[in-house]
Amino acid sequence: MQLATVKSKGCDMRWSHTYIPTLREKQTDAELISHQLLLRGGYIRKLAAGIYIYLPLMQRVIDKFSSIVREEMNKAGGLEITMSVLCPAELWQRSGRYNSIGKEQMRLKDRHQHDMVLCGTHEETVTDLVAGEVKSYKQLPLNLYQIQVKFRDEIRPRFGLMRGREFLMKDAYTFDADDTSFNKSYQKMVDAYFSIFKRAGLDVLKVESDTGAMGGKLAHEFMLLVDTSAGEEVIISCPTCSYAANVEKAMFGLSRLADQDSILNEKETVHTPGASTIEQVAAFLKVRSSQLVKTLIYMADGKPIAALVRGDRELNEVKLKNVAGAIELEMANPTQVELHTGSPVGFSGPVGLKNIPLYVDPMIVRMKNFVVGANKSEHHIVNANIERDFAATKVQDISKANAGDMCPNCGGTLTVRRGIEVGNTFMLGTKYSSALEAKFLDAEGKEQPMLMGSYGIGITRMPQAALEKYSDDKGIIWPKNIAPYLVELIPLNIEKEPQKEAAERIYKDLIDAGIDVLLDDRNDRAGVKLNDADLIGLPIRIVIGDKSLKDGHVELKARSQANVTLVLVENIVQAVKKLSDELN
Ligand code: ATP
Ligand code: MG
Repeated sequence: MQLATVKSKGCDMRWSHTYIPTLREKQTDAELISHQLLLRGGYIRKLAAGIYIYLPLMQRVIDKFSSIVREEMNKAGGLEITMSVLCPAELWQRSGRYNSIGKEQMRLKDRHQHDMVLCGTHEETVTDLVAGEVKSYKQLPLNLYQIQVKFRDEIRPRFGLMRGREFLMKDAYTFDADDTSFNKSYQKMVDAYFSIFKRAGLDVLKVESDTGAMGGKLAHEFMLLVDTSAGEEVIISCPTCSYAANVEKAMFGLSRLADQDSILNEKETVHTPGASTIEQVAAFLKVRSSQLVKTLIYMADGKPIAALVRGDRELNEVKLKNVAGAIELEMANPTQVELHTGSPVGFSGPVGLKNIPLYVDPMIVRMKNFVVGANKSEHHIVNANIERDFAATKVQDISKANAGDMCPNCGGTLTVRRGIEVGNTFMLGTKYSSALEAKFLDAEGKEQPMLMGSYGIGITRMPQAALEKYSDDKGIIWPKNIAPYLVELIPLNIEKEPQKEAAERIYKDLIDAGIDVLLDDRNDRAGVKLNDADLIGLPIRIVIGDKSLKDGHVELKARSQANVTLVLVENIVQAVKKLSDELN
């Protein structure tokens, strides 16, 4: 029996048959260039804050990117499933996140008055699924993933698809029996991520990150570095070694800071009229701000705590939240400050502060004879010293790393960059498997909770993020593997028979060769068609005009390049393939 060979054809589309509502005018509610271009290029439309409709071109971008993700996930051993967006609240109550996640979670009741949630992530669902089925170490490791809708009632939905309330995510979950196996599973996902982003035309940086509400030990984020205001994440990295971390997590070395005086002077309360900020106090006392210690009062789950950092440093709230083990952390308001310290804002200090835990940055342990607030209006204490004058509840790094600080890894000098988080990987440990009883019997017959990892990629965020890098003042310049079509074919005047004929022939040849092509068959002005082509940003453009067609030529141009080449109609497939090979 002979097997038929199936040659895959490229996807074809005529502009007149599709729906690409391009817009000329600047869109006033789109701050970012990428958001502007998706609206103007007829890719998306807004339904409500953070809720978008993906039009045909966007749907194709999503499908192309999803295919890359699927292929690489499958290659790495992932098994695709689909979990429902709707979930009984009970699972989230059992994991403890029903209380900790807050208002970002969409909640509702069904007709039987059962509490339900719309999932913003699926750890609970997948863990419960596995808990009922996987019983032996022989069934592990397991990697389940999906590409599915997520709902998060983001406090500030903005930037179009970048931070939506409804969006698409690829989320994967791994289950392993021991650390060695888990580390392999984690590394496989990291490798798959690099392959995915590379194929999509993006260079990403892997950075250490805080585990946040997800829990677990360690996490990494995959960042697209950008120079625009789209870069919501601040990244601290070392140009000398490979150290890179989200500023929420970033550490820095201390040894460059010289120890100060060795003698402890007598402490003294001084009147500091009109001076309450660090700058004012430093100026008044004629000392550097690095000789002051800031005492910041916070409310951690409703209880006051004090955080001490050096006067010239900023507090890192994420680090403080972790040290204090708090779910909700907010700065105390003036009334709370007065209630707990006995003085207005600006004069808080650690000396004599009662019944409030003191979290102290290690920089302060190396300081001597510093200035602190006196817990008395318009007064400060000079020559304060830790241990002699107050005791820390805990000494731990709670300051923000800055550019110029020392790399904690190699001693180099840290720099600051901005990025968009396009994906992340979390080492979850046994947080969910313990809570939801995903246990297995190990080789000795002992019951143990599974070791878990979770791994997300923003399927709708990533393509928009790419446009922060790939666009110019005329429009989008898609990386070829996530472009809705590779080629736009433009007969300048479709009414002219030779142009129409050449267009139909090239159209057919490209499709037969497996190339995705959009034919602009509109009976519109050439200028309109060329402007739209630049705006929607397909990687390769073929223009058919009278002049070159006389000698059997058409014009071939990459959207990312300025030069135009004349190609014989019969050679066009080859020329398109060659040009495509050169493109990102
Ligand atoms: P962010 O810090 O940007 O809020 P996150 O830490 O909440 O992201 P995860 O919960 O780990 O993100 O989600 C995995 C991925 O999903 C992210 O890396 C991002 O690409 C994407 N993502 C997260 N929130 C949104 C959103 N509101 N809109 C679109 N994509 C999102
Ligand atoms: Mg978030």
